[in-house]
Amino acid sequence: MNNITPIVGKIHEEYLLEQQRLNNEARKDRQSSGKLWPTDMFTKCDRKIYYHMVGTKSSNEHGFPTLDYFDGGNLAEAKTERALLHFANKRLSFIDGLEQYSVERSVRISNDMWSGEIDFVIKSKDRIILVEHKATSDSKFKNLDLPQLKHLGQLCLYGKLWFEKYGVMPELRIFYSGWGGFAEYVVSPNSKTIISEGFIKGKYHKKTRRKSVKHEIDRLEQLYVDIKQNNLIPLMLEKKHNGCEFMGNPSCSYYNLCWYGKSMDRQT
Ligand code: SF4
Repeated sequence: MNNITPIVGKIHEEYLLEQQRLNNEARKDRQSSGKLWPTDMFTKCDRKIYYHMVGTKSSNEHGFPTLDYFDGGNLAEAKTERALLHFANKRLSFIDGLEQYSVERSVRISNDMWSGEIDFVIKSKDRIILVEHKATSDSKFKNLDLPQLKHLGQLCLYGKLWFEKYGVMPELRIFYSGWGGFAEYVVSPNSKTIISEGFIKGKYHKKTRRKSVKHEIDRLEQLYVDIKQNNLIPLMLEKKHNGCEFMGNPSCSYYNLCWYGKSMDRQT
């Protein structure tokens, strides 16, 4: 037994809870839009989509590890924004084909079924680049475990919405920020694959995923119809560790709704 009380840690924890409340408030309109979100692409849990689409009030807040993880992501994104803004609207000499650009952060885009927010849109005289920004752990860099499928799906969906709205297919890029380095990929969805090609901490890295963006969009749009018109309630996940928890703590806003009274995973 000791008498040490965490001070900095406690303040940090309270700060994150406060941020969660403010974020929830700021995103209320999006949360009650009744639409699909680009983050639903290649999701593990269709039931989560159902809950946010029908506007179910989340029954619990995220736990501290998840909030800390989110906060790290926001800080990393702010750092990248600072760098992008620093050179915006200036003459550049160090990137071929991008002499001058403007940049916008958190650009809203939607259609009848989808509603989302693009992290960065970079525009130059003849290029439009949509950037999905993620912070990630060092192990993902070491194991070349990037880019993640759900992030690719999210970015490709933004590309589709952009094309629908402006009639121009933008370049798609995903940027991962990590300790002491970054990874950046150009992303190309085809009919049966998604190709990502770029650099991870300076080393060339190319990956082909045998997944169809179109198939996933069609699947989710059918789910949208089934939820809206046929009152479908998708099954919950069988195992908590598949997407309900992060480091042993709830990471899904609907955790208590699904798992209340169930102390063990359903299959065990
Ligand atoms: S708690 Fe798990 S099963 Fe329930 S909606 Fe969230 S991710 Fe799906």
